[in-house]
Amino acid sequence: MGTMKAVTVISGDNNVRGPHFNPLKKDHGSPLDDEERHVGDLGNILAGSDGVAEISITDKKIQLSGEHSILGRAVVVHADPDDLGRGGHELSKTTGNAGARVGCGIIGLQSSI
Ligand SMILES: [Zn+2]
Repeated sequence: MGTMKAVTVISGDNNVRGPHFNPLKKDHGSPLDDEERHVGDLGNILAGSDGVAEISITDKKIQLSGEHSILGRAVVVHADPDDLGRGGHELSKTTGNAGARVGCGIIGLQSSI
C-alpha cells in the first residue's frame, strides 16, 4: 500500500525554502487540466510502502531554457497529497495543503558519460 505525495518545483533562487515556482503569478492548481496553476505544480506521485517512488512526468509548462527555466531550482516532495487547489483549505490556492517538505533536489543537466 503506497501513499500519495505532492511534488512541486519551487522558485529556489539559491534557497530550498522558496514558494512554488510561479513566474506567471497564478494560483496553485493541477498540472493535468488547469490553466490556473503554478508552473512548478506537478501534482501527485505514488510512493511505495518503502517510501520509494519511481516516476516519469511529462509537462506542458515546465521549460529547461529561457526566462521560465527550472534549471537550478529545486524539486520538492511533500509529506501529504496535493489537493490541486480544490481542497477549500486556506493553503489550497498556494501549496495544495500538501504538508511539510520531506525531500528535495536541485534540478540540473547531466552530460552523457
Ligand atoms: Zn503550487
